[in-house]
Amino acid sequence: MYLGPMNCPRCAVPLVDVTPDLALPDVHSLSCPTCHGHWLAQKDLERLEQDTEVRWLELRHIPPPELQAELLTCPACTPARHLNKIESHADRKVVLDACEHCHGVWLDGGELEAIQQKGVIPALFDAVRFLLRR
Ligand SMILES: [Zn+2]
Ligand SMILES: [Zn+2]
Repeated sequence: MYLGPMNCPRCAVPLVDVTPDLALPDVHSLSCPTCHGHWLAQKDLERLEQDTEVRWLELRHIPPPELQAELLTCPACTPARHLNKIESHADRKVVLDACEHCHGVWLDGGELEAIQQKGVIPALFDAVRFLLRR
């Protein structure tokens, strides 16, 4: 549930509402100006799933494993709750942080790009469906 301004789970700076793909102007993500991660709410994940030809404009680098291993707190939920780590089957360098409660997903800078380059967007949505079944 969106309760006001959200802060980056890594940097604690305010997230900025962006439309990362000009071809899909109704898909929003909240992006961190410092670490370039993205928060995708459930409705935007569902919208993305309808178009697997998505071309996101950003090319970033995935952070090192020790940074990915940090436990993050959901930026959307109050009271605070930790995000679950979900490894992508197709690319073990990609670790998603997903909220069991609001079903939002945090992607570190570069992860969304990596997912799309490898053609493993279905893996992302498998992870989301896994959360929804709980
Ligand atoms: Zn950040
Ligand atoms: Zn949440």
